[in-house]
Amino acid sequence: MTRDPRYDILFEPVKIGPVTARNRFYQVPHCTGLGWLRPRMVAALRGMKAEGGWGVVCTEYCSIHPSSDDLPYVSTSLWDDGDIKANGLMTEQVHAHGSLAGAELWYGGGSSANLYSRETAMAIDSRPNTAGNPYQTRAMDKSDIRDLRRWHRKAALRARQAGFDIVYVYATHGYLLSSFLSPHHNRRTDEYGGSLENRVRLVRELIEETKDAVGETCAVAVRFSADEKIGEDGEPVQGERRDMLEMLAELPDLWDINISDYSLEMGVSRFVKEGALEPYMAFVKSVTTKPVVSVGRFTSPDTMVSQVTRGIVDFIGAARPSIADPFLPKKIEEGRIEEIRECIGCNICYVGDGKSVPIRCTQNPTMGEEWRRGWHPEKIEPKGSDSKVLIVGAGPAGLEAARALGERGYRVMLAETARELGGRVTREAALPGLAEWARVRDYRVQRLESMGNVEIFRQSKLGVDDVLAVAAEHVVIATGASWRADGFGRYHTNPMTDLGPAEQVFTPDDVMAGRLPGGRAIVFDDDHYYMACVLAERLRMDGVPITLITTEDRIAAWAEYTVERARSQKRLMELDVEIVTAHGLESFDGGKALIRCIYTGRERRINADAVVMVTARTPNDALFHALGKPIEDGAEGAPRTIARIGDCEAPAIIAAAVFAGHRYARELDACVDGDNPLRRDRWSETETVQANTNEH
Ligand code: ADP
Ligand code: SF4
Repeated sequence: MTRDPRYDILFEPVKIGPVTARNRFYQVPHCTGLGWLRPRMVAALRGMKAEGGWGVVCTEYCSIHPSSDDLPYVSTSLWDDGDIKANGLMTEQVHAHGSLAGAELWYGGGSSANLYSRETAMAIDSRPNTAGNPYQTRAMDKSDIRDLRRWHRKAALRARQAGFDIVYVYATHGYLLSSFLSPHHNRRTDEYGGSLENRVRLVRELIEETKDAVGETCAVAVRFSADEKIGEDGEPVQGERRDMLEMLAELPDLWDINISDYSLEMGVSRFVKEGALEPYMAFVKSVTTKPVVSVGRFTSPDTMVSQVTRGIVDFIGAARPSIADPFLPKKIEEGRIEEIRECIGCNICYVGDGKSVPIRCTQNPTMGEEWRRGWHPEKIEPKGSDSKVLIVGAGPAGLEAARALGERGYRVMLAETARELGGRVTREAALPGLAEWARVRDYRVQRLESMGNVEIFRQSKLGVDDVLAVAAEHVVIATGASWRADGFGRYHTNPMTDLGPAEQVFTPDDVMAGRLPGGRAIVFDDDHYYMACVLAERLRMDGVPITLITTEDRIAAWAEYTVERARSQKRLMELDVEIVTAHGLESFDGGKALIRCIYTGRERRINADAVVMVTARTPNDALFHALGKPIEDGAEGAPRTIARIGDCEAPAIIAAAVFAGHRYARELDACVDGDNPLRRDRWSETETVQANTNEH
């Protein structure tokens, strides 16, 4: 297939100072939870983006000195020669595919407590650590600023030595340089504070010094915020940013523009849609002749073309779309647009950073597994036998297993009780804000429909006899899980005994099926992710008065990691949902609920006509267990192997179900050492660096 000519513009080379990007696809810096701790994993991940067609591939934030360390959050680093080697693994893999590699030099300032290095953190002022650690920074004096400039220069030189083509001055996201720029934070009285010119001085110096150090061969990029502070969504508060940009307009070789509200810049699809930054940064190209890149969770090539032709950006910046589909550019280039695996905007990929673990993605189960499991997002081993595989259940686990087994060439039968495929994603996508989650289903169904070796049976609820009648060699049970109505969960380690009339007790499954409570309802959240908030929102839309009770100190506590907690809280407050934190639900009699404070044990009764229990799920594993006996007895039609995957094995996030489906497909008829299923990435300076990290 060939590319549609209307997308030609996306494949034009673009000059960035002394280097040229082969096209307009630009993977902006993004965290991976890998960084300097896991350099082989990150090198393979970045190399995969280049292979998939991203013309520029950047690091995550890259610390320039031990006085800017962010552990437990993992950055990469260019502190010493060992780091040059480690980063060289990445640049080599990026260059192997003809792409440019960018290093985002970073100095944290007030956000770094230096819990790893134990260096004193430095910032513009002596101020409390912004990440909440009980540390204050030392106010930087002139000699500290001189040190910083020297470190930055040395890191730029190391970046060049490591093979980077683009070196960043990173002046946003609340880190040190942004506090120098800020009229609110910069209270200095020397030549680095006061007037606009003074506040811009350090950034200007760093741009000039980086150019001086590496500018002949490397482009110098500046990451900069187009707005000064958070306003209402879509209504930028630009402040002096335009003046600053005008002052520096022609100094760097590239502007990488974002905005001050992180929860909008990388907002979840519940709250933020494609292209949301445009109102904030549309003016940027009018003040500079240098190329501009920005983000917007772009997955539609038409939107991308429109961004370029309307003069908003020169490069299509992406973090998440490149995570969900490292081969997005290739698919556009080869006229395979319908094969793009579109990001759903769930931000599970960002959890790796907050939890300090390797990145994962709901849509792309191979993300982060390129090196340690040797998984490629677009390539998979051909089948290892002529076996027939029966998959029961077409939720994310079953669909992904079917897709990947289908790609391998197996004969696959996929049976689903419902008329609609998709399982939980189909149900959840109908909840407020979650429509894009249906992409988990749509991508897979689209692929399955193009495969002659996969048969799909809808409205086919299989029992033991049905499974045996199929006589497949392998059976995969992917029958999901059901929400519990009995209160069992983290708070109640046994089912509640005092829960009133069953018709007044609801589960998320009930609400998703359209069985809604009447009168005042309590949503009891012992789950702590999005479900309780989304249900509360759904019920408020129907006019149901809601009290949301959570056993945590904050609503949707885990959603902090996906950058949606604050917006969830705001939304519920705007909808007049009453919020009660740090309380457990003790009992419900149909008219009143007894709740108890988890700290003091104090109890009180509140009026309620219904309770919606968001606590835990029961795996739907009856069919799996029921097949045990016939298999043991060697009954006619019994499969050689049976497996359960996804929520029916252990209920979890959608990403875990997709991963389980993918893993099953990869490992069928393959030799996998179950005792040692993955390679571990360790790094030490004394170790010999293998040039090719793809060896297995
Ligand atoms: P997961 O997240 O693990 O993929 P889901 O709950 O999303 O799980 O999907 C499970 C799917 O399995 C649902 O669509 C459900 O209708 C289907 N299912 C459950 N039991 C059977 C069965 N016996 N036969 C066919 N389909 C089933
Ligand atoms: Fe997109 Fe979710 Fe994947 Fe992140 S985890 S890239 S938000 S689909």
